[in-house]
Amino acid sequence: MNYSSLNYNSSAVSFLEAVRKGLAPDRGLYYPESIPKLPKDFIKNIGKYSNHEIALTVIKPFVGSDIPEARLKEIIEDTLNFDFPLIPINNSIASLELFQGPTLAFKDVGARFMARCLAYANEIEEQKKLTILVATSGDTGGAVADGFYKVKGIDVVILYPKGKVSEVQEKQLTTLGENITALEVDGTFDDCQDMVKTAFIDPELTNEVALTSANSINIARWLSQMFYYFIAYKNRPKSNNKLVVSVPSGNFGNLCAGLVAHKMGLPITHFIASTNVNDTVPSYLETGNYNPKKSVSTISNAMDVGDPSNFIRIQKLFNNDFHKLKKVVSGYSFTDNETKKALKEIYNNSHYIADPHGAVSYLGLKAYLEDQNNEDFYGIFFETAHPIKFAPTVESTLKIKLDPPPQLKNIMEKTKLSLPINDYQSLRNFLLER
Ligand SMILES: *Cc1c(COP(=O)(O)O)cnc(C)c1O
Repeated sequence: MNYSSLNYNSSAVSFLEAVRKGLAPDRGLYYPESIPKLPKDFIKNIGKYSNHEIALTVIKPFVGSDIPEARLKEIIEDTLNFDFPLIPINNSIASLELFQGPTLAFKDVGARFMARCLAYANEIEEQKKLTILVATSGDTGGAVADGFYKVKGIDVVILYPKGKVSEVQEKQLTTLGENITALEVDGTFDDCQDMVKTAFIDPELTNEVALTSANSINIARWLSQMFYYFIAYKNRPKSNNKLVVSVPSGNFGNLCAGLVAHKMGLPITHFIASTNVNDTVPSYLETGNYNPKKSVSTISNAMDVGDPSNFIRIQKLFNNDFHKLKKVVSGYSFTDNETKKALKEIYNNSHYIADPHGAVSYLGLKAYLEDQNNEDFYGIFFETAHPIKFAPTVESTLKIKLDPPPQLKNIMEKTKLSLPINDYQSLRNFLLER
C-alpha cells in the first residue's frame, strides 16, 4: 500500500516511510491510495475472532509488505495487551472503555503501535536517529512517552504547558527519563504547538536532526484506532439492532479511523462527532461552512481543538461530498455545565463513573437517539480516559473519592524531571546541542 500527500505535491511512499516521515515534504497529510474492502464472511463471523486476529486482518492491507506478517502479529499482540470492556449503561446504551492501557487514555493503542512499527524500521535498516517532537495538552505526551520508552534509535521530546496539565498527566510525562525528555513551556498549549510547527519547517534544524511527530497525523497512530470500532461491533449485545457509535472528538483522528472502518465494510449505521464548545465540526455539519477557530479551554481538555488536523482526511473519505458525509456523521457540542450534569446523570442512574470526555460522548449519543425516536438502535459511546486522569472535576462533581488504578501505584512518588523553556530559540538550541 502506498500513501500520497493530500497537498498533492510530494511523491507517494510506502507504509514505513510514511510512518517515519509523519507529514509529507509538502506539509500534507498522508492518505492511503485505496481503502480495501473486507470479506463479507469476516464481518459475519467476527464474533469468532480474537481482538488480535481482528486487528491483524484489518491493518494488514494498510501495512502491505513493509512488515512481514509474523512480525506484524507480534506487534499487534504487544500493542493490544489490555482489555476493552463494554459496560452497559441501560437497555440501549453502553460505554466502550478504551482507557485500560498503561497511561489510562485511548491514545495508548496508537502510540504503542506506532512505536513498534518504528522499532522494526530501525532494526531492518541502519537509520539516522529519529527525534519525535510532540506538543501535548495532556494525554498525548504520556502515551507517547510510555509507548516509545527505551525504543532503540528514537528520542522523544515533549513540550507541555507549565501548570496546565493535571498532576497525573505531568507525572506520566516527566518521570520516565532515558530517551524521554519533557520540556516545560511557560505558556499555553497553542504556544507549545506553534514551537513544534516552527521546528518542523526550520531547514537548518531539520538538516541536522531527523524530526517526526507522533500525533494522529501519523498514519500508524491514526489507522490503528480502527481496532476500537471492530471491537465495538463484535461485542455489541443486540446484533439485530442498528449500531450507532459516539466518539468524543478533538483532532478527529479517532472518528476518522472509524470512518475508514466503515468504508472497509464495517456495518456501523451512524457515527456521532461529540465535542465540547470547540464545535468547529458540529457547526460545519449544521451549516456546511468550515470555520476553524481559536481553541477554548474546557474540562474535557484533550478535545480543546479549534482546527482539527484530520478533518481534511474525513472530507477525502467522502470525496468532499457534504451530503454523503451528513448521511453517516452527525455532530453535537456541549458546554462544561452540560458535561457535569451528564457525569451526575450517568452516576445516579447507572452507578457508572465517566470522565468528562466520556460524558460528552454520552451526551452526543443520547441527543442523536432522541432525535431518531427509534427503538431499533443500539448505541455505544467511547470512554476515552480513566476518570482518575480528571480527578478534581470528577470528584468535586460527584462528591466521591476515586480509587487509583494499578497503573498509578508507583508513578505518583517518582521525581519530576523537566527542563524549562520559554521560546523557540531555546527549543532549537536544545535540539541542536544534544
Ligand atoms: C485525544 C483525546 C480525545 C480526542 O481524540 P481525537 O482523535 O483527537 O479526536 C478524546 N478524549 C481523550 C481522553 C483524549 O485523550
